[in-house]
Amino acid sequence: MKYLPVFLNVQDAPCLVIGGGDIAQRKVHSILRAGAHVTVLSPDLSPGLQALLHQKKIIWQKALFTVEALKGFKLVISATNQRKVNELVAASAMSLGIPVNVVDCPDLCSFIFPALIDRSPIILAISTGGASPILARVLRSRLESLIPNRYGRLAGLAERARDRVKKAIPEATHRRRFWEETLQGGLQDLILNGQDQQAEREFDRLLDVACKPSSAKTTGFVSLVGAGPGDPELLTLKALRILQEADVIVHDRLVSDGILRLGRTDAERIDVGKAMSRHTLPQEDINRLLVSLARKGQRVVRLKGGDPFIFGRGGEEIETLMEEGIPFQIVPGITAAIGCAAYAGIPLTHRDYAQSVSFVTGHSREGLGCQIDWKPFVNTQQTLVIYMGLQAFPAIRDSLIREGADPHRPAAIIEEGTTSSQRVVVGSLESLYEKATAAGIKSPALIIIGEVVRLHSKLTWFGSSKVHESMESTEL
Ligand code: SAH
Repeated sequence: MKYLPVFLNVQDAPCLVIGGGDIAQRKVHSILRAGAHVTVLSPDLSPGLQALLHQKKIIWQKALFTVEALKGFKLVISATNQRKVNELVAASAMSLGIPVNVVDCPDLCSFIFPALIDRSPIILAISTGGASPILARVLRSRLESLIPNRYGRLAGLAERARDRVKKAIPEATHRRRFWEETLQGGLQDLILNGQDQQAEREFDRLLDVACKPSSAKTTGFVSLVGAGPGDPELLTLKALRILQEADVIVHDRLVSDGILRLGRTDAERIDVGKAMSRHTLPQEDINRLLVSLARKGQRVVRLKGGDPFIFGRGGEEIETLMEEGIPFQIVPGITAAIGCAAYAGIPLTHRDYAQSVSFVTGHSREGLGCQIDWKPFVNTQQTLVIYMGLQAFPAIRDSLIREGADPHRPAAIIEEGTTSSQRVVVGSLESLYEKATAAGIKSPALIIIGEVVRLHSKLTWFGSSKVHESMESTEL
């Protein structure tokens, strides 16, 4: 380790920045954020620094650098473009024992600035020891996306409660366990979802329970998470984080192995998979399972294909949790229509072809397709997306044509969209079912009907649907 990472307290400390250009200005901003009293020494100031001077946020010494200028300062930054001046500043500051940073000259520095992720009061500092500041910044942006913006609030809550917890749980190991469980539990999600008041109440309750272990009644937390259409990279950052924290993952058949592998290896995985005609576990039982797992104090992820609220029965599961007083959250996912359309190069709306889009199920509570009134969907300016429509498609097609839809309207079916097994078959409303059957298309498959399907041959970018291109060109 080339440098010792420390966090310096510069609250109200007099700090000197030498140089009045843009680079100096950036450093001034960093140390102002840490509460320093900043003096800028330079014959002239950049417009940004002038603005700070105007707002009385900095003091200006309009002068050239001399060694005397360092007197009384606790920290010095040299941001001039003159090597000789920088060398003099560094040597003088070091001889006086004042920490000094010369911008972009690691050899002249007694300290360097790391790349920062600011989730105040949490600060993450990344350094390559001066080897490559750009690499540190690249790494920073990767980490930025992993740490939710509101994470700092969790630290704020912990800070406020620290003394109280110390008094309530005097034994150190017991206290550490309390903090570990509390900071990783459902409380975290309440804070990250902006439910600060509920979080404070939940914290009080947890502390109460921790003080009286005999009467402890733990409540878990259920996250209803959309896993997206298949490609694991289409998970949201939030879904990924929650998945990695789960004790139990209750999932559907549609959720791919690639996504399930992202959970902790020791997390329990329960498949409640529902093939359309093979209900492995009735909905009632799934609802009850979620409640009982949460009652055991587990962090439960109910993982559903696509989005939980699009033909996913998410609403029914949430109703039960609500009735039973189990805390929960909902994490949206990319629904099959959005994912498949993008990966098949079929824009669902287009200024020239479609001003609206409808998502319809081919399989309602009452059974296959026919109960739906198809009249509103024959409009040529609209795209129609049918979920769970493969089996019922002949009936749907006939109803649409009966209601006035053009039999030659372009239509496509996408099997296992967004995965490496994706296949796209293109035809017309009239011909699609036969073509799909000939190609052996199976569920999960999504049907898109509308003029926008014409764009598929032009916009195909993912995988290869070449097998079916000849069909398409004869048809469209
Ligand atoms: N909640 C899910 C939909 C569940 S209904 C979502 O928002 O996507 C199940 C139907 O979704 C399937 O029958 C199929 O029509 C469609 N579907 C889901 N994933 C799919 C995929 N990867 N490729 C094609 N269709 C898919």
